[in-house]
Amino acid sequence: MKPLYDVLISGGGPAGMTAAIYAVRAGLSTVLLTGPARGGQVAYTDVVDNYPGFPMIYGSDLAQRLSEHAKSVGAELLEESAEAMELSGPVKTVKTEEREYQARTVILAQGSERRKLGIPGEKEFTGRGVSYCATCDGNFFRNKTVAVIGGGNTALGDAIGLSALCGKVFLVHRRDQLRAMDHLIRQAKTCGNLEFVHPYLPQEIQGGQKVEHLVLKERNSGEQKILDVEGVFVAVGVEPNTKLLQGLLPLKDGFVEAPETCETALPGVFVAGDLRKKALYQIVTAVSDGANAAHSALLYLQRQPNRT
Ligand code: NAP
Repeated sequence: MKPLYDVLISGGGPAGMTAAIYAVRAGLSTVLLTGPARGGQVAYTDVVDNYPGFPMIYGSDLAQRLSEHAKSVGAELLEESAEAMELSGPVKTVKTEEREYQARTVILAQGSERRKLGIPGEKEFTGRGVSYCATCDGNFFRNKTVAVIGGGNTALGDAIGLSALCGKVFLVHRRDQLRAMDHLIRQAKTCGNLEFVHPYLPQEIQGGQKVEHLVLKERNSGEQKILDVEGVFVAVGVEPNTKLLQGLLPLKDGFVEAPETCETALPGVFVAGDLRKKALYQIVTAVSDGANAAHSALLYLQRQPNRT
């Protein structure tokens, strides 16, 4: 007979891992579907320097610590991804490629994935010079010239990290004003091989076997500029992984709306981390959601009359 879990958590980033730690410690039987890579977006982050208690930690190390912490308290971590869900009713069903799981509550913490530019050449050259993860792929571009596209915290962090490895880094942004935090902008300005290119819109990525050029258009004059680069790192934001939830839950701009308790419109279903519409998308707000979602799941279960 299939086990009926108290809590099934979908997503193994900081929100999901925290939810697992809190759920297990509250005495709830808990399964966490992490997907193929544990740690979520943080695993792809170079350096994290704003998570309290860790003045400087590599994203991959933090992801590893979160996973080890969840395992050490007894959470069942499975490298499977939810592919379909039935979330109404007192028993929820979540299907992965391998199996079908049943749980009394579900915490949705699938996070987000990197947004694509949607320009010619991007798809064609992905893995051949186009990358969405400077932490994972930066080493392939040692001493080479690369461009980072975007003006947010990720783009600035990626550009700073790459400037230590690459011969030259162009930071291409579509506006004159960067969106990133001041301290990252200040740090980027101290990198001697980092050149700011703005306001330019990316138009096309060109090359032969691998990336050779990034074609840009000046935002105001329309003048074309071509950068000779071997790598293009795309850091133009993230999109919530809510494809599975279409038609199951009301979404706003692709996100699930929920109060601090992380309760959704469906009883027994909670949302945590980057999937939840909020003002500040940070690791610290994701772990906060994870704790709140697990606590709300506990309170929900305690209210159920027939819980054995
Ligand atoms: P983000 O803050 O949404 O920034 C995306 C950047 O890409 C913006 O500068 C945007 O330009 C630009 N952009 C969007 N679409 C574009 C397009 N089609 N072509 C060219 N440029 C485009 O995304 P993020 O940097 O990935 O960060 C995601 C979230 O994680 C944010 O909330 C961020 O604060 C957080 N984060 C925090 C840290 C940290 O605290 N250290 C590190 C990384 C990420 P505009 O500015 O013109 O909109």
